Amino acid sequence: MGILIRGASLGGERRDILIEQDRITRIAPSIGGAFPAGLLAIEAEGLAAVPSLANAHAHSAMTLLRGVAEDMELMPWLTGAIWPVEARMTDEDVYWGTRLAAVEMARSGTTVCNDMYLHPEALARAARDSGLRFVLSYALIDGLDEAVGAAQRAACAAFFERLPDCGPLSRFHLAAHSVYATTAESIRLLARQARERGLLFHVHLAETRAEDEGCRARTGLSPAAYLDSLGALGPWTVAAHCLWLDERDFDLLGERGVAIAHNPVSNMKLASGPAFDYEAARRRGLRVLLGTDGAASNNSLDLFADMKIAGLLQKQHYGDSRRFPVREILEAASARGHEVFGTGGGRIVEGAAADLLLVDLDRASMVPCHDLEANLVYSGSGAVVDTTICAGKALMLHRKVEGEAEVFAEARSRAARLSRRT
Ligand SMILES: [Zn+2]
Repeated sequence: MGILIRGASLGGERRDILIEQDRITRIAPSIGGAFPAGLLAIEAEGLAAVPSLANAHAHSAMTLLRGVAEDMELMPWLTGAIWPVEARMTDEDVYWGTRLAAVEMARSGTTVCNDMYLHPEALARAARDSGLRFVLSYALIDGLDEAVGAAQRAACAAFFERLPDCGPLSRFHLAAHSVYATTAESIRLLARQARERGLLFHVHLAETRAEDEGCRARTGLSPAAYLDSLGALGPWTVAAHCLWLDERDFDLLGERGVAIAHNPVSNMKLASGPAFDYEAARRRGLRVLLGTDGAASNNSLDLFADMKIAGLLQKQHYGDSRRFPVREILEAASARGHEVFGTGGGRIVEGAAADLLLVDLDRASMVPCHDLEANLVYSGSGAVVDTTICAGKALMLHRKVEGEAEVFAEARSRAARLSRRT
């Protein structure tokens, strides 16, 4: 077992990289000697080794809903087009939709995904079988109905009593959909449990004007202040979107040390609000991560595209081309996500988790390579990834992903059945 990468370009130098179990154990100009039987040797001439990407906000199984409803506003899109189809999704649909997402992410260089979806048993199986790292969550979405909320809280407690096997790389955390779709009591309980158990609390926050206005009318507080009043903001909170925040909200998130999952493509496509204010977040030391959101609103899970668009959005909207520089975009899409999700990866150094990519420098969009990081953000795409290694296993080797044909066939037939019943 193990992988020996021979002759990759690492920081511009030619390096061999030895991976044993799930760790990078040695990096040197040349690694020789006797290797154990079954060692996978990868000839990496012309390939650059870079850390893998971390998708900070997704609803993976929504791959089955890719392209199902276009050119709509968020609330009618969600309530009229998405939720009715989701209500008919079975465990097996969610399983194969999540498997498809894992293939798409492996193909485009992502090895860890912070997910929020329903059907937790199916999520567990899909995570285990995919080989990708999933930060799963048991998500409560009770539609502000107290009775539904109480039943869901009981189901959540029972679920955590007997957690399904999601494999060694994934773990269940807690999620509330949002302040407009989850009761105060549910949010309060989930947040307390996340804090007490050392889990993450994943939530949509300040995504639309309707959410902002509705929350202020109902509670007298902004969505951020309302979450805080329920004890739901802390360093263990991953808040997705964060578009409708004023200066006081940013101060609050900064004081609580929240991590923000920025989803530029989904936000732009659904015209969810003003551009995310990256500088306001950065000034307060907030940890900004990058996510795709679900494939119904992106419609791709290729985080390379989100990196480029994240940069363009800040520069264009604020009229300042210095905003969100290349290295900070890469940090948001990779190292910082690995840190928040506790993978031990995000860096290619001895002792780090073996989550890394071999990127093909012989692709037209990567030639020349004055600045590898600039190429990754602005001229690359998932298609330049040759090999994706997650926790010491090659999920994609020289563009081949094992078992992919079966995943595509299942996903196609399940998506067709779901749309026929629309
Ligand atoms: Zn979302």
